Amino acid sequence: MISGRRVVIQTATGPVKGVTGKRAVHLMDEADRKKVPEIHEIWIDIGARSKKEALERVSIGDVATYDHEFELIHGSIGASRAFDNKVGAYIVGETLIRLSAVRKKLAAKVVAVATAQEEIGVRGATTSAYAVNPHIAVAVDVGHATDHPDCDNRKYGETKLGGGPIICRGPNINPKIYQRLLKAAKKLRIPYQLEADPRPTGTDARAIQMGRGGVATGLVSVPLRYMHTPSEMVDLEDVERCVQLFVEFALALEKRDYAHW
Ligand SMILES: [Zn+2]
Repeated sequence: MISGRRVVIQTATGPVKGVTGKRAVHLMDEADRKKVPEIHEIWIDIGARSKKEALERVSIGDVATYDHEFELIHGSIGASRAFDNKVGAYIVGETLIRLSAVRKKLAAKVVAVATAQEEIGVRGATTSAYAVNPHIAVAVDVGHATDHPDCDNRKYGETKLGGGPIICRGPNINPKIYQRLLKAAKKLRIPYQLEADPRPTGTDARAIQMGRGGVATGLVSVPLRYMHTPSEMVDLEDVERCVQLFVEFALALEKRDYAHW
């Protein structure tokens, strides 16, 4: 997925454009063509004439991102790099904005966190769960939509784009939070999908559940195709339904709830 991409390197003196280089197919022998390049065989070409010039423009450790912007593909279906997990950050932020308009109806204090470094060991969720010290929490991530031509539903379940938020169940999930999320979806009459995960999930819920003395944790995922590619696909209707779900979930919380969880 890395070869032939436009990238932007963030440097101290501003963005530097580049291209991920690869030997042309004509210059490869039969065996080379079948090989996936390893990390040390990949480079970013910034059009520099020498190592000296390259080091004047970028520094070791500068971060590069794919130069792919958000685009609507059809109707409410959009493609973007890093929907995983920009949509999560959007959902919790938008939920707070909508809750602020009805804040007097809230029995709970609601905190939204955009965690850093989930992908490399739920690190932001670990520190955030400690700092916020919540009674209950719900993680928001993306989940695999399996409705494309190369997915075995026996292995990966049946989830689809536009099918609504995916509500997770399993040992990482508090059963009462799961029930409440379900109840909220039913009350809103929005479509939703179920996912069972028998292990610690690959999401922030994993860290939050074990924060301090333990946190009753739920997990809602936005269905997404092509995870971790530069063109992830999401139905914005599902994103909106997640916001509605969280608003309803928060408004339904009562003071006495927390004693039971
Ligand atoms: Zn991810």
